[in-house]
Amino acid sequence: MDPISPMEQALHAARALVLADLVAGQVAEADVVSLVEESVAQRRWWVEQWPDGAEYVAGLVAQDVQDALLDRYGRWPLCPVCGSGDPHALDVEPELGPAPHWVCHKAGVRVAAIGSLGSCAGGAPAS
Ligand SMILES: [Zn+2]
Repeated sequence: MDPISPMEQALHAARALVLADLVAGQVAEADVVSLVEESVAQRRWWVEQWPDGAEYVAGLVAQDVQDALLDRYGRWPLCPVCGSGDPHALDVEPELGPAPHWVCHKAGVRVAAIGSLGSCAGGAPAS
């Protein structure tokens, strides 16, 4: 058994976190999951060039998937905080940093850590 490198751990974690948020938004369909896989594959290359960036990978994968979904699916994840007005997507903050969060710039609030969207506002019930 090969030991799992910190880089692989970070990539696995990023994949799991973003998938959890997709499930929370009920968009984790097969083609969407493959978008996550694509992003993780690209970020594997990226983090090989820059191992210190491992802790930023979750935020980057989230942004990659967000961009890819915008073309195929639409805005994701929709803001669960603002009850009225135009539906809008959350943003990742920091764009390149540790402990990335989803934020709503309209309301100026941190909504949830990446991977925790399901625990806020109308996501899948916690069991
Ligand atoms: Zn909002």
